Amino acid sequence: MRLDTGLTRIAIPSKGRLQEASESLLSAAGIGYRRRDRALMARAKGLDLAVLFVRPDDIPILVAEGAADLGIVGRDLVTEHGCKKRVKELADLDFGHCRLAVAAREAAGITKVSQLKGRKVAASMVHSAESFFKRKRVPVQLVEVSGSVEIMVALGLADAIVDLVESGDTLRDNGLAVIETIAESQAILIAAKKPRDAKLLGVIQRRIEGVLTARQYTLLEYNVPRAKLKEAEKLTPGYNSPTISELEDPKWCAVKVMVPRKNSIEIIDQLEALGASAILETAIHNCRL
Ligand code: AMP
Repeated sequence: MRLDTGLTRIAIPSKGRLQEASESLLSAAGIGYRRRDRALMARAKGLDLAVLFVRPDDIPILVAEGAADLGIVGRDLVTEHGCKKRVKELADLDFGHCRLAVAAREAAGITKVSQLKGRKVAASMVHSAESFFKRKRVPVQLVEVSGSVEIMVALGLADAIVDLVESGDTLRDNGLAVIETIAESQAILIAAKKPRDAKLLGVIQRRIEGVLTARQYTLLEYNVPRAKLKEAEKLTPGYNSPTISELEDPKWCAVKVMVPRKNSIEIIDQLEALGASAILETAIHNCRL
């Protein structure tokens, strides 16, 4: 596909941890496309939109420079590439959660950042690492590496590392432990300050936000005695407010309400204990609130 200059552009990772989740987010938001082989871009169906498949590291600068109107990228990379003030952060996407942290060898007795003064620290995110140690007023010798950061202490290249940590398994496997967290990160949706088509960008943003809300909530329907309605509403206050409908039996009513997905099962237990019946939980695939 040749890039039509009038098309709005969204840049998503072509590799790495965020790739799959970014593609499924677009799909859930009704942004469909067919990517040919390893093509670098694809035209979205039914929208004046091109999807760009690029290296995650390049996404912040592409959006900051306006070469892409939207991007899905880790917050850590936006900071690392100095683009925080040059892009608009539109939404936290609730995947790719990790933290940028300083880690050292537990056995070496390094437990505080101040102990690293004058020592070697290996990092791939050198700008973030540099500004952290500057802020802390702990001068260190930064050694830039491009990957496999966790192995660098065992190899004798450095006394500590700065790296992204998700589960912490890789650190543990290498005898390292976090001594301080520099920043929390997750995937975010970013936008150019001067997009090609602000209206279309708004539509895409709303679609993505709708999917994010749908992922966080689930829909509960139940019948409850009117005498217990106030208590039931306390358990299920809803996103805005629950929908209450009459039933044939005037002593009962039906409730339809969104509840946070992560504790829906406890809410169902509590509703049942309260005397509610015919409790149904349904997944929400999409929504606009
Ligand atoms: P873990 O063992 O789960 O702590 O993962 C650590 C490894 O995965 C390190 O090599 C990190 O650089 C990398 N990593 C963890 N989270 C992310 C992320 N959200 N984006 C990119 N790389 C990550």
